[in-house]
Amino acid sequence: MVHDSTSDISPLLEANRKWAEECIAKDPTYFSKLAGSQAPEFLYIGCSDSRVAPAAIFNMVPGEVFVQRNVGNLVNVKDLNCMSCLEYTIDHLKIKHILVTGHYNCGACKAGLLWHPSTAGVTNLWISDVRDVRDKNAAAFEGLTADEAWDKMVELNVEAQVFNVCASPIVQAAWARGQPLTVHGLVYSPGTGRVKELIKPIKGTDDPSYSLSAKLKQHCSFSDCLKA
Ligand SMILES: [Zn+2]
Repeated sequence: MVHDSTSDISPLLEANRKWAEECIAKDPTYFSKLAGSQAPEFLYIGCSDSRVAPAAIFNMVPGEVFVQRNVGNLVNVKDLNCMSCLEYTIDHLKIKHILVTGHYNCGACKAGLLWHPSTAGVTNLWISDVRDVRDKNAAAFEGLTADEAWDKMVELNVEAQVFNVCASPIVQAAWARGQPLTVHGLVYSPGTGRVKELIKPIKGTDDPSYSLSAKLKQHCSFSDCLKA
């Protein structure tokens, strides 16, 4: 076989072999236990950015967190990938927490902040939801420096996606039948490794932190689904 350095992933395979061996050395049943089933308590919804490692930043091991990632950590009823993750983890795995986690220095949020709507490419189409959040919150950006505006875009985008999660028919149905489920809005900083809470956790439609406020309806992609 001709060696092609541009397609050679042998270092990855070697790293994987060492990792698996180390896991088994610590616990011979490590993988056999995982192979049987999964019962994570957390669904993580985050950006695809390579600097953010969902399990690692919470010091979790395989089996502890179900992960849904896309460019800009967006939640949209038209995204069957994200909706199926919500449905599967809530209806079948009975997860307890949804961690909507944005991150500072997010390229998707910068694009949503700066790109012209007519910019070519599917990425611009995808991040149009970020642009909508920007446009609906124009006053929040007044007087900010470029870096401050970028951070603000990241935070407002997380808030919008939290409300999109809460307003989704899947989460609304879970709360209506009394299923324990808390939605969190978090932001991660690649520069410090720290996560902070942006909003108070939302445990249901009766939770004081949940409201059908003007802000919620403004952010929400599913406002037609919300009960008055
Ligand atoms: Zn990002």
